[in-house]
Amino acid sequence: MKDIIVTIDGHAGSGKSTTAALLADRLGLMYLDTGAMYRAVTYAVISRGIDPEDEEKVSGIAETISIELKDSDGRPVFFLDGEEVESKIRTLEVSNAVSPVSQHRGVRKSMVRIQRKIGAGGGIVAEGRDTGTTVFPSAEVKVFLEADTEARVERRVAQMRSMGMDPDPEEIRRNIAERDSIDSGREHSPLRKAPGSVVVNTSTTTIEGQVDIIEKAVRKEYERLSQLRIQRGQPSGSRKAPIYWRITVGAVYCFFRIVFGLKVYGMENLLYRENFIIASNHISYADPLLVGCVVKREIWFMAKIELFKNRFLGWLIRKYHAFPVKRGAADRKSIKVIFEKLADGYSVLLFPEGTRSRTGEIGKLKSGLGFIAMSTGKSIVPVFIKGAGMLGRCMMRKEKLEVRIGRPIRLNPDYVPEDRKSDYEILAGMISESLKVLKDESEA
Ligand code: C5P
Repeated sequence: MKDIIVTIDGHAGSGKSTTAALLADRLGLMYLDTGAMYRAVTYAVISRGIDPEDEEKVSGIAETISIELKDSDGRPVFFLDGEEVESKIRTLEVSNAVSPVSQHRGVRKSMVRIQRKIGAGGGIVAEGRDTGTTVFPSAEVKVFLEADTEARVERRVAQMRSMGMDPDPEEIRRNIAERDSIDSGREHSPLRKAPGSVVVNTSTTTIEGQVDIIEKAVRKEYERLSQLRIQRGQPSGSRKAPIYWRITVGAVYCFFRIVFGLKVYGMENLLYRENFIIASNHISYADPLLVGCVVKREIWFMAKIELFKNRFLGWLIRKYHAFPVKRGAADRKSIKVIFEKLADGYSVLLFPEGTRSRTGEIGKLKSGLGFIAMSTGKSIVPVFIKGAGMLGRCMMRKEKLEVRIGRPIRLNPDYVPEDRKSDYEILAGMISESLKVLKDESEA
């Protein structure tokens, strides 16, 4: 399990820390307490006498301090500028200021960057508020812990007592309610249940009991993925592409490779015997060709209906699995085709930004992709294309032409959505985050 990522999110006092630490221990993974990082920033803010609401100053601190995860008596704890701060970050003073501090965009950006670096090779259990939705959207197992307020207050009181503090339950209740409200209501990465998570209500379960449930879910998913993994020499994908397809794709790949210097990263993320929804950024008309020639699977993709008016072009692109879409309005016919193709075992390439982006920035993604993924249960593979809008410069090797394939976003089939519409939006946001991770990698 050394490269698996498990995320555990939930409200203050829902038992995340204890659960995550115990789970990490049982599975031999590293435990990443992201709340401790926001607490460390808060501690730095308070000790420098800065107002937690002062966005500019607080973000500046988050950017300049050094937060490191080190081993202390066999436990991973955070060091702030070289000093061990474990007990200093658990005081009520820090708890009262941490939510205002962690709502600033700059603070989140800095912390998420460190968290992704720590989790880059996998092998971790991350715990917090946005670890499943923002930090690691492609975590193999995403857990959401729920618990009623009274259970959470009791737990936090017990936790503080065990650390030698003497908390007033009434004050803890107020603090938890206040943090719930800020954490869920803030603009940047609010606390949300990631669609497709394993949801566990911990109001009445014991810690051991809830860890058992999660451990079982992780082992089950790990087993499933091991079986789906394509071994050396086995054909990729759930369908074998016809010979004309394979020849063309090989030729197109060689063309991009030799003429434009195409480089491909992350092919290992496709080594599963399943068909995917491939979600790519869109910068050029060459994008379907680029993705099609690297993924080594027979894929279907949408092309605007105007392209089918020319009879030859229409015939040609149909042969290579383009299907028409009317832009603007929601096109039921093309959505039906997507469902059919996915059910037939094909992968489908979608450009969820809807239209080409001139700037290369990732635009807002359409929630329709969330609808398709949640209705079909198919995993989503994020793909980031770089340089396709400047092929001339790539030819002269002044720009890089790259296709980066990210880790698939997988949905737990037992997940029951409460509010489908909002889940589609959240899932679209998760895909957008995955694309941004790939974009950051391409700029590093
Ligand atoms: O988990 P813990 O209660 O220690 O987290 C402290 C605070 O840090 C939370 O109330 C929240 O405001 C912030 N936090 C966050 N995002 C995370 C983890 C914690 O905003 N991923």
